Amino acid sequence: MKKGILAIVGRPNVGKSTVFNRLIGERKSIVEDTPGVTRDRIYGTVEWLTREFQLIDTGGIQIEDQPFQQEIQMQVEIAIEEADCILFLVNGRDGVTSDDQFIARMLQRSNKPIILGVNKIDDHSLSYNLYDFYSLGVGDPIAVSGVHGIGIGDILDKAVALMPQDDIDAYEGMTSFCLIGRPNVGKSSLVNAILRQERVIVSDVEGTTRDAIDTPFRRDGKDYVIIDTAGIRKRGKIYENVEKYSIMRAMSAIERSDVVLVVLDGESGLREQDKHVAGYAHEAGKGVILVYNKWDTVEKDTHTMATIEKKLRAQFLYLSYAPIVFVSALKRQRIDQLLPLIDQVHDNAALRIQTNILNEVIMDAQLMDPPKPHNGKRLKIYYASQVSVCPPTIVLFVNDPQLLHFSYKRFLENRLREAFGFEGTTIRIIARERS
Ligand code: GDP
Ligand code: GDP
Repeated sequence: MKKGILAIVGRPNVGKSTVFNRLIGERKSIVEDTPGVTRDRIYGTVEWLTREFQLIDTGGIQIEDQPFQQEIQMQVEIAIEEADCILFLVNGRDGVTSDDQFIARMLQRSNKPIILGVNKIDDHSLSYNLYDFYSLGVGDPIAVSGVHGIGIGDILDKAVALMPQDDIDAYEGMTSFCLIGRPNVGKSSLVNAILRQERVIVSDVEGTTRDAIDTPFRRDGKDYVIIDTAGIRKRGKIYENVEKYSIMRAMSAIERSDVVLVVLDGESGLREQDKHVAGYAHEAGKGVILVYNKWDTVEKDTHTMATIEKKLRAQFLYLSYAPIVFVSALKRQRIDQLLPLIDQVHDNAALRIQTNILNEVIMDAQLMDPPKPHNGKRLKIYYASQVSVCPPTIVLFVNDPQLLHFSYKRFLENRLREAFGFEGTTIRIIARERS
């Protein structure tokens, strides 16, 4: 599903990250923490009424040693390129500044819908400050207080109204996947190896410029689409070198994919950045496959594969469910295993378990291995229900949700995997009090 994107722009200290956190608000509590992943909070999902869209805080994208004007210009350009709608944030206490005017002029030249948020209007006594901002020529100012949560609903209402209404899934019935990984691990080589001669010129799939580089193709009667992670390469500016920007691109591609191939480089070995990249795929709840590329460069004996697999498992503890494939894009080694594996992982993520069978497994597990009491209280699971797929999400109705400890959750997860497989997908387990 293609979701709309809202980008926040504005000069430093107007409150972008404060407002960003407000806008993504409740969602944060659902997403489980992934150890080892430093959260670059510039990308998130917003849920409002029945709609979902993506949010980018361009203020988090920075280039080192750049003059301020150039930096802000890059942020605004990225916002204009990536987003369907832009939230231009200003500081209501400073009045209109020349930097605000600079940003406003750039935004006016784009054809993107703009929401003008005047932040730090913490109470009514300050709202007379609003009127100044009409002079920016980007529409009606909305009074906001990121700190007090004022005006957030107004922004969301307006964003939803301005977002393209095409909630139709352009890739319905297709399996979408992307390849992510640091530069030079072999992503483009793998794409070419997977596509062989079947590369289809994109013309009949609608979408914005952003989507036009996705590549749909058909193989053995099945439809796939490779989601592109490339970003802006125009006017000689290659923002790919800005790490946060490439992370943002990767996250946007992950969001639109059913399955994510995390590509690792067998020649140069593992780096810290590989773990971050893999962490995003895990957090997004997508199907994940670890693809260990450049296998041709690895000196091997009979134990090599097992040794490397063990090493990878130790490095990617939270991805214990992800299958690992050792490939060579160059020699086409095991390339033909990738699509069947992608299908399989997608099917696993979309698996719906019959309620009675699910309950049998959970109740058996509880009976054989009951939760240990904590402070004299013991978790009691009454009933389990799978509430969604992609990833499979299971709600346990219990006496007290606080009593579901991480270790017991892990135990139940393992039981579910023994019973139903679920290879390649995370499983979310949520406890709710039985009402
Ligand atoms: P950014 O640089 O635009 O991302 O700005 P931040 O979100 O980091 O905020 C800059 C400063 O302004 C911080 O000290 C915030 O606490 C403060 N701030 C943000 N929103 C508000 C607000 O609504 N009211 C007030 N009084 N201060 C705010
Ligand atoms: P990307 O930046 O991740 O898209 O990486 P590229 O696909 O551009 O590949 C980077 C370099 O690695 C190029 O020189 C490729 O020829 C090389 N490369 C890619 N896959 C393989 C492989 O399987 N084996 C070997 N030996 N080299 C590879």
